[in-house]
Amino acid sequence: MTNTNDRPIDTSPSVGDEVKHTTCYMCACRCGIKVYLQDGEIRYIQGNRNHPVNKGILCAKGSAGIMNFKSPAKLSKPLKRVGPRGSGEFKEIEWEEALDTATAWLARCRATNPRKLAFFTGRDQSQSLTSWWAQQFGTPNFSAHGGFCSVNMAAGGLYTIGSAFWEFGEPDWENTKYFLMFGVAEDHDSNPIKKGIGHLKTRGAKFVSVNPVRTGYSGVADEWIGIRPGTDGLFVMSLIRELLRAGTIDEEYLVRYTNVHWLVIRNEGGADHGLYIRDENGAAQCWDGEKQALAVNTDVNAKPILMGEVTLPDGRKAVPAFQLIAEQYLDDQFAPEAVAEKTGISADTIRRIAAELADVAFQQSIELPIEWVDTFGRKHDKVIGRPVAMHAMRGISAHSNGFHTCRAIHILQLLLGSIDVPGGMRYKPPYPKALYSLPKPFGKDREVQPNTPLAGPHLGFPMAPEQLLIDDDGKAMRIDKAFSWEAPLATHGLMHMVITNAWKGDPYPIDTLFLYMANMAWNSTMNTSKVMDMLTDKNEETGEYKIPRIIYSDAFYSEMVPYADLILPDTTYLERWDCISLLDRPISHADAAADAIRHPIVEPDRDVRCFQEVLLDLGARLGLNGMMNDDGSPKYPGGYADYITNHERRPGLGPLAGWRGKDGTEHGRGDANPDQLKRYVENEGFWEYTLPEAHRYYRFANKGYLEWAETMAFTTNADQIVMKIYSEALQKFRLAAQGHGDVQPPDSERERIETYASPLPIWYPPVEEQMVDEAAYPLHAITQRPMHMYHSWGSQNAWLRQITGDNRLYMSREKGAELKIETDDWVWVISHNGRIKVQVALMDGVNKDTVWTWNAIGKRPGAWNLDADASEGRKGFLLNHLISELLPEKGDGYRYSNSDPLTGQAAWFDLRVRVEKASVADEGVIEPAFQPTAKPPGMSHPPEVLKYGETFRKTREKEPSA
Ligand code: SF4
Repeated sequence: MTNTNDRPIDTSPSVGDEVKHTTCYMCACRCGIKVYLQDGEIRYIQGNRNHPVNKGILCAKGSAGIMNFKSPAKLSKPLKRVGPRGSGEFKEIEWEEALDTATAWLARCRATNPRKLAFFTGRDQSQSLTSWWAQQFGTPNFSAHGGFCSVNMAAGGLYTIGSAFWEFGEPDWENTKYFLMFGVAEDHDSNPIKKGIGHLKTRGAKFVSVNPVRTGYSGVADEWIGIRPGTDGLFVMSLIRELLRAGTIDEEYLVRYTNVHWLVIRNEGGADHGLYIRDENGAAQCWDGEKQALAVNTDVNAKPILMGEVTLPDGRKAVPAFQLIAEQYLDDQFAPEAVAEKTGISADTIRRIAAELADVAFQQSIELPIEWVDTFGRKHDKVIGRPVAMHAMRGISAHSNGFHTCRAIHILQLLLGSIDVPGGMRYKPPYPKALYSLPKPFGKDREVQPNTPLAGPHLGFPMAPEQLLIDDDGKAMRIDKAFSWEAPLATHGLMHMVITNAWKGDPYPIDTLFLYMANMAWNSTMNTSKVMDMLTDKNEETGEYKIPRIIYSDAFYSEMVPYADLILPDTTYLERWDCISLLDRPISHADAAADAIRHPIVEPDRDVRCFQEVLLDLGARLGLNGMMNDDGSPKYPGGYADYITNHERRPGLGPLAGWRGKDGTEHGRGDANPDQLKRYVENEGFWEYTLPEAHRYYRFANKGYLEWAETMAFTTNADQIVMKIYSEALQKFRLAAQGHGDVQPPDSERERIETYASPLPIWYPPVEEQMVDEAAYPLHAITQRPMHMYHSWGSQNAWLRQITGDNRLYMSREKGAELKIETDDWVWVISHNGRIKVQVALMDGVNKDTVWTWNAIGKRPGAWNLDADASEGRKGFLLNHLISELLPEKGDGYRYSNSDPLTGQAAWFDLRVRVEKASVADEGVIEPAFQPTAKPPGMSHPPEVLKYGETFRKTREKEPSA
């Protein structure tokens, strides 16, 4: 082909002279990427077609990773604060000084009281290392970002089906005929969902999206249900009612794999009310209707009853758990007509969706001729698929009723028999896991001693009040109050409460706050303006900051940087080693266990170090177990790559499962292999073990799978993992609140625990909604995340900024007409916590009682090395200023955290607001407005015009044409 100048046009130009495979980190999905380099410089990023996560698909964020690497906001050297906190005045220091300073601060905490260190990380992907480090340090005050992200999804899933959505389970995209999705923003399981929806569309499967806002996935759904925020639980319970009424449930599946037949004691007011009938070995019992006798729940020959009360020989009365389910959900409060107004979904629609679910599950079931053996040794010649799959995320999780709603969604799937079957929601190894076998949290008084590691992990899964981290008075033992009566199942901690609690000294003051990749002075925090004040607030008597020392590690000049005293600059994901481990959140999919690495594609051009390497260095300097040799030398002198290769959590069990053993022939367990990382690099950055067909379904009761899972240390034994529709663990908390047992809540907490610790899912209005005046704040306010941005990571990216550089408050046209507000009008948005002034855009496709905006587009002027007048600072805004981390005062002066009362999940989406048109005089400027912070030394001025491709074009033009 030629152009008009007769110059040949190269229709397939080479995009580089070298290609390297690694793992994307522009969001949390961990897609495989091919990075093309030219003359050693990054030229182009492409999806890796061989990679299990994305099969070649690359999103806008992934391809724009080049601009994160090229970002002028990158930090370039360790920094020490020289001006007041918040000013951004720093001086550059050498790494030795930075590490000496950090070591001195940390050592003092450790030698006196390890609780004085609060170590919290954001959306990093090395939690198996960071948690291990904190455990060796000895502080109980550690968690990652899960508490403000989606702990309701994790806890709700693990307490019910031994797994969860996204990283722990996925829809069977190949076989699903009906996909019901609740509250999913475009970033959670991004490319895999796009790929999956593509499969559904190709096959003509139905996709129903339940979300107050019709963007992203909801925009391509076959049916969009614009539900009122926080009412998904009601909708689901109404669906459950309809299935129960119609009898369209999978009884055989329920009895085989769940606890519906387990006998539950009926002894209202007694200490055993609601607990299972157990035999002398502790095994839960059922009632064999044929023999009219008790039987062990695992007795495959028993014919357990599902309804009816039985009187045991000892006089106790009990009913099968299923009877309690029926009693609870057949109640008229869940009738479609009763929930229609609250949910905004018509009764007809609810009935139709229930009928569609039942029709697909039972009239369009699938049978695959796959032989498998169950945990009782019975051979089966097929697997039966109920091709209904569900997926849920932030829209459920970020409400204070999200834990119960998530449990209800799983129970809906269980009633249909659609968990881990063809066409249903399928587990990803290393899940499922038995709840009883999961760790319990450590951090009680006697477990925290100076210069001593914690004997176990910080985070765990309490099964009874005795496992809470509370003192004799029932007071919280962690800075975030996780695992206290305020958040007994806070399995991911409450990161959103750390700064407030530390500032208040409640339950105690700390000395050093150590944060990684967590923009806690901006979009990762509630009540942003007030939190900035807390970070700079001083003790009047001592003149010292109330949070005395803050260490922060980030690759970029985020809004949090000016609020730290010591900055440890991190690398970008293209400059580092990393592992995406089966010990953490791997890249497995339903048919395979898999893990992955990142490796340096280019060397850093600045004086920065990978945070994980710094953490290991600090660990060695502090003499932490496992990080220092007996002679005092560092255990991992080769840094993070050395750790990834040689660390063993247990004998033969390391961060990576592939190519273990001295010669690399073992997988899962085996000695460290010095060439392991080389083998990963050669294999395009990942390891994948495809399960034999016989191990791919019913994995909670699949003998072959569970035996293999035990050898991989995914499970502690190969016993059946019974799914828990009825939760005895929650009943134990309720009994404690009712005055039973050795560990009981203080009187002030009894009612709250009794209400929320329900053994079957309940629905209640979001807690903030219960406490504020609905007439004064009639609207719900939520955020959505654009497909092309992830947290605040994207909106400093030169290419992604061009897609969305500012945000509006979106409102339905109907509501706009009612309030006489038009597109471009300026409005005040007012909550019980404050007000912001922003511009409106009217739209279709939003629940009429809901306003929303894009998350994390607004930036503080000066941060991220953006121009002082960049649109993100002038026209972008955060809803966070309106969201309080504390609920309104409850009557005795105390303010609970704005969280799910069981899991402590940050209730971002409970926000209630009113919207008022701003006066003409108030138009034109976003409020609150912030002064720009100073730029740190060494941060160059960004180019006026970015011409990234220019260099490569010039190089190409110099080359002789082919
Ligand atoms: S979804 Fe996009 S940003 Fe996220 S890991 Fe995959 S390619 Fe990267």
